[in-house]
Parts: sequence; structure tokens; C-alpha cells
Amino acid sequence: MSVLVLYAGSAEQWGPYRPALTRAFEAEGLDVELVTEVEDPATVDYIVHSPSGPIRDFTPYTGAKAVLSLWAGVEEIVGNATLTQPLVRMVDAGLTEGMVEWVTGHVLRHHLGMDDHILNQDGTWRPVAPPLARQRRVALLGLGALGSAVGQALAALNFQVTGWSRSAHEVPGLQCLSGDEGLEATLKGADFVILLLPLTPQTIDVMNARTMALPTRGAVILNPGRGPLIDDAALLKALEDGQIGHATLDVFRTEPLPPEHPFWAHPKVTVTPHIASETRPVTAALAIAANIRRSEDGEPMMHVVDRARGY
Ligand code: NDP
Repeated sequence: MSVLVLYAGSAEQWGPYRPALTRAFEAEGLDVELVTEVEDPATVDYIVHSPSGPIRDFTPYTGAKAVLSLWAGVEEIVGNATLTQPLVRMVDAGLTEGMVEWVTGHVLRHHLGMDDHILNQDGTWRPVAPPLARQRRVALLGLGALGSAVGQALAALNFQVTGWSRSAHEVPGLQCLSGDEGLEATLKGADFVILLLPLTPQTIDVMNARTMALPTRGAVILNPGRGPLIDDAALLKALEDGQIGHATLDVFRTEPLPPEHPFWAHPKVTVTPHIASETRPVTAALAIAANIRRSEDGEPMMHVVDRARGY
């Protein structure tokens, strides 16, 4: 079987993938020729795709049974009209773990008021203890692979987490709401707003002037989802008037974030360069190999993207 990897990252980034995939295919009992270029596209059985490269014409890959994305977010490929095969998004245990750590770390920074002590160590004794996590309300938009894991981690620390999704969910330890009417109730009175939604026409600007008025005054927004989930102008205004106390942003409408962008120098904005979490070669290879094995055994593949929904 031939698996073509269309990898757009550097040779250094690609390096760990080849041995990880080779081992994972072997472990699944799959006899795979792993290639990064092919003379005859029709001979390719599966395509592993990293979306940061140029838009691909998938038409010549007439024998390909599926395209497996190395990224969880598929907005750059989901609308590709030449892609007729099933598209599978990345759900990787390592990616999930990384996201849980990034979100938990940044929530705890603000919850504990760490900046006060780290940045303002000026000889003044300020004995003000932070409240307990159980006194903080978290609004978590997105209850998918990443959102539900993040929600459970925060709930385990006793934060009061309300999660919001398109369809109804039940996640242990969380209050779960859905649909348009659920959004307002989720955001109302929240101390933290965490965005783990995919980028679709429905989720663009989900945080806008109206919705940013709903959390408690001084709430913190964390966006490790996608930049366009936030109306940037509305966020800058909400930061200026104090409705939003801080925004910790990992993703942006333009990446890399241009040096002149006001977020860089804003005292109430923390910029991280799209590193909240990344696909980890070893665990991602296991996910890819397991899914190809399922397909070869005639079982349905996991995490197939609903092209109409866009994620
Ligand atoms: P999933 O597809 O598993 O989950 C998406 C969630 O969003 C689901 O709960 C879904 O609802 C919900 N959702 C989608 N559309 C709407 C809507 N219109 N209204 C309400 N809820 C909606 O995605 P993941 O959890 O795996 O990933 C989430 C996103 O995180 C990715 O799409 C990507 O953009 C981002 N990401 C960022 C990374 C980084 O390093 N910054 C790394 C990896 C991912 P339902 O369950 O009902 O379908």
C-alpha cells in the first residue's frame, strides 16, 4: 500500500514523522510504502496532508481512499472542491495533552494573579490571597476533542465550567449548553472565556461587541482556537473600557502576527505564536495508522470531517 505524505513544514519538522509513521504502520500490521513524492498519483492509497502548504489539486489521486490531515483545524482544506475522498481531521492524544496544559497554565496565571507577584516584586507586602477556583466561572466554547478534555481538566481543579457546542453534549463535571440560546447563558457572568471552536462561517466573530458584554466585568479571554473567532476591533474596545481584563491569544487573523499589530504592545494582551498545542509525531502517527487499518479492514474511519458543517 502506498501512503503519500504531503508535508509542507521544514525538513527538521518532518524528520520525526517518518520513523514514527513507519513504526505505527508496522504495529498495525500494515505493509506500507511511505513516500513524499510520486510519479503516478493514481497509485497512492492514502494521503497524509499538512495544510500549511500550497492548495493542492487532489483530482489526479484517483485511487486515494482518504486524506488524513495532520492538523485538527481543517478550514484550509475543507472547501477544496477537488477533494472528493473522505477527509479525516487530526485527533491526537499528544495534541490534546498539550492543549490542556496550555489552557490550564494560562487560566491559572490569571486566576492566581501571578503577574502581580512575578512582575511587581517591589518590596511591598500585599497579602491578598486569590479566591478558590470553585468561585470562578469558566465559559468554554467548543466541546470537541480538545474542548472536552480542557473542560474536564479545569473541572478537576474545581472551576465551574459551562461548555457550549452546536449539538447537545454530556461531559462529566461540566454544565453543557448548546445552540444559539445556550451561548448567552454560557457567557453570562463568566470569569474566563475559552475559545476552542473550529473556524467555520458560523463561528466567525462569535466574540463580538454584544457577546463580549456578557462575561463578568474584567473577564479574561483565552483564544487557542482560531483568530477570526474574535472581532479584533471589539476586543480592543472591550479591553480599553475594562469589560475584558486581559486577552491571551495564540491564534490570529494574520499569522505570523504583523510586528505593527496593536496586540503586540498592548498591556492587557498576551501573544503566543500559535504554539498552544501541536501535532506530536509519535501519537499522531498512531492515530493515522489506526485509522488506515480501520479503513483497510472495512471499518468506518474515525474523525471524518462533515464537509457541509465545515469541521
Ligand atoms: P472538534 O471538531 O472536535 O470540536 C469542535 C467543537 O466546536 C464541537 O464541540 C462543536 O460542536 C463545536 N462547534 C462547531 N461549530 C459550532 C457552532 N456553530 N456553534 C457551537 N459550537 C460549535 O475540534 P477540536 O476540539 O479537535 O479542535 C477545536 C479547534 O481548535 C480546531 O478546529 C482548531 O481550530 C483549534 N486548534 C488550535 C491549535 C493551536 O495550537 N492553537 C491546535 C489544535 C487545534 P458539536 O460537538 O456539537 O459538533
